[in-house]
Amino acid sequence: TDTITIEGFTAWLAAFRDRVTEHRSYLTELDSAIGDADHGANMARGMAAVMEKVGASPATTADELFKTVGMTLVTSVGGASGPLYGTLFLRLGMTAGAVAECDAAALSSALRAGLDGVVARGKAEAGDKTMFDAMAPALDAMDAAIASGASLAEATAAARDAAAAGRDATEPLVARKGRASYLGERSAGHLDPGATSTALLFDALAEVTAS
Ligand code: ADP
Ligand code: MG
Ligand code: MG
Repeated sequence: TDTITIEGFTAWLAAFRDRVTEHRSYLTELDSAIGDADHGANMARGMAAVMEKVGASPATTADELFKTVGMTLVTSVGGASGPLYGTLFLRLGMTAGAVAECDAAALSSALRAGLDGVVARGKAEAGDKTMFDAMAPALDAMDAAIASGASLAEATAAARDAAAAGRDATEPLVARKGRASYLGERSAGHLDPGATSTALLFDALAEVTAS
């Protein structure tokens, strides 16, 4: 099938929850090198809260579902990542609208609106060593795949691969946003924790949309 339904979106969120939980120590280890050692805990706590809320009041449309996701992340995760991921999902849902499913183009537009929200909130640019550096290339790759006629599964696989490459490319960068920027040159030589969790987000999406 070439659409993702509410069940598919919910499976995506659950798969992301599973990944941040499984890689909780690793994300925290990355954040201990260039931050305050809480990114794994933040994401695992936030996504656990999200799945609890989503399970308690199942949504029938994308805007409803992602509003719950975004609000829960904003309120349950302190620090930079809660409001940023919260904004991503809130904008994603607002753009997807009151629909029960999205095709690849609608999903990509909604994700793009989410990224725009992250940028509006955090002012990150390419190369600042943030989640932007995984998210922006992922969406560029997804759009390029769709433009050349890719299926939803092919488009999300391209996004996953580009997010992973973007994550890896953060290693040599000097951070210019967030806590890691306080370290200046000493932030180089480490992967960015938020770019790493964003790569998990796209890995989860590719898994649930794989045909
Ligand atoms: P905190 O830094 O408040 O402890 P987290 O550790 O949970 O929050 O998240 C840190 C991640 O947030 C960073 O690795 C980076 O990817 C992301 N981040 C921080 N500031 C920004 C920003 N202004 N724009 C985009 N992403 C950001
Ligand atoms: Mg932190
Ligand atoms: Mg913190």
